[in-house]
Amino acid sequence: MRAFEYAAPRTLDEALAVLREHGDEARVIAGGTALVTMMRQRLVSPGYLVSLRDIRGLDRIEADNGGIRIGALATHRDVETSPLVRERLPVLAETFRRVASVRIRNMATVGGALAHADPNQDPPVTLIALGARVEICGTDGRRALPVEEFFRDYYESALEPGEVVIGVVVPQLAPASGAAYVKFLPRTADDYATVAVAATVSVDPDGERCRAARIALGSVGVTPIRARGAEGLLAGQRFGAELLRGAGEAVKGAVDPLSDHRGSAAYKREMAGVMVGRALTRAWDAALVSARGTR
Ligand SMILES: Cc1cc2nc3c(=O)[nH]c(=O)nc-3n(C[C@H](O)[C@H](O)[C@H](O)COP(=O)(O)OP(=O)(O)OC[C@H]3O[C@@H](n4cnc5c(N)ncnc54)[C@H](O)[C@@H]3O)c2cc1C
Repeated sequence: MRAFEYAAPRTLDEALAVLREHGDEARVIAGGTALVTMMRQRLVSPGYLVSLRDIRGLDRIEADNGGIRIGALATHRDVETSPLVRERLPVLAETFRRVASVRIRNMATVGGALAHADPNQDPPVTLIALGARVEICGTDGRRALPVEEFFRDYYESALEPGEVVIGVVVPQLAPASGAAYVKFLPRTADDYATVAVAATVSVDPDGERCRAARIALGSVGVTPIRARGAEGLLAGQRFGAELLRGAGEAVKGAVDPLSDHRGSAAYKREMAGVMVGRALTRAWDAALVSARGTR
C-alpha cells in the first residue's frame, strides 16, 4: 500500500477544508471496510486520508418529522439495533441486519455505503423504496438528493469533489402501508445479494386495492434502480397472482444485470421477477395489518 498522511479533524468544516486543500489526493475514510481493501489492491492510492470518526454528532440517529434522520457515521450495526429504527421503520433495521457479518456491520457506515456506490449493497435498495434523501455537504454549502438520483454509474455517485455525505433522511411510511426487503443469496448468508428487492405498498382504507407502491432493486445493473414501470401497474389494482406476474414481467424488462460468480445475467433477470413478487406479497400483507390498525 502506498504511504499516506492521515488527518482526523474534529469538525465538519475542518474536514471540508482539508479535502479542499488536498484536492484529488485526498479521500474520506469512514469505516474503512471498502476503502482499505481498495487501497491494498491499489485500485485507489490516496496520498491523504481524512477520517470522519472524530466529528461529534455525525453518528446520531434521531426522530425527524415522524421519520428518521441517520448521520453518515452511524454504523450498520447502529441502525440494525436502534430502538427508534426498529419501532418506526423495522424494514430498515432488517435490511442492515442482512449486511455481511457483525464484524463488518460494526465498522461499515451509512455514509460509506452510499458514497461507495457499489450496486450490490443492501441499504441503498431499501432507502430508495422508502423515498429517503441523502444529505450532502461541501465548502459551497449543503444540498439533498433522493437516494435514487444519487447513484450515477458503477461505483460512481453524485458527490462532487470535496463533498461528503452527512446523513440520510428517511420519511415515515404513509398510513395503511407496509414495507419488505428480500435478499436473495443462494450461496452464504454473509454474501452480497444475487438479487435484492425492497417494496413499499400503501392500500386504500378498506384494504381492497393498492393506492401506491415503490419498488427498488439491487445487484441488477450498474446502480440500484427504481422499477417505476412495475409500480405504475399496481396503482388502483387488487392483489392477486396475475398482478404479481405482471409486475415481475415489468421488472424483468427494466433490469440489466451483469453476469458474475453469483449468477448469469439471464438467471438474475429471472430471479428479479420472482423476488419482486415475494417482496410485494410481504409488503402488501404488512399494509393490510397497518390498515386494520388504522380502522
Ligand atoms: C467482506 C465484506 C462483505 C460485505 N458484504 C456486504 C453486503 O452483503 N451488503 C452490503 O450492503 N455491504 C456489504 N459490505 C460493506 C460494503 O461493501 C462497504 O464496504 C461499506 O458499506 C463501506 O462503508 P465504510 O463506512 O466502511 O466506507 P469506507 O470504506 O470508509 O469508504 C468507502 C468509500 O466511500 C467514501 N466515503 C465514506 N464515507 C463517506 C462520506 N460520509 N462522505 C463521502 N465519502 C465517503 C470513501 O472515500 C470511499 O471511497 C461488505 C464489506 C466487506 C468488506
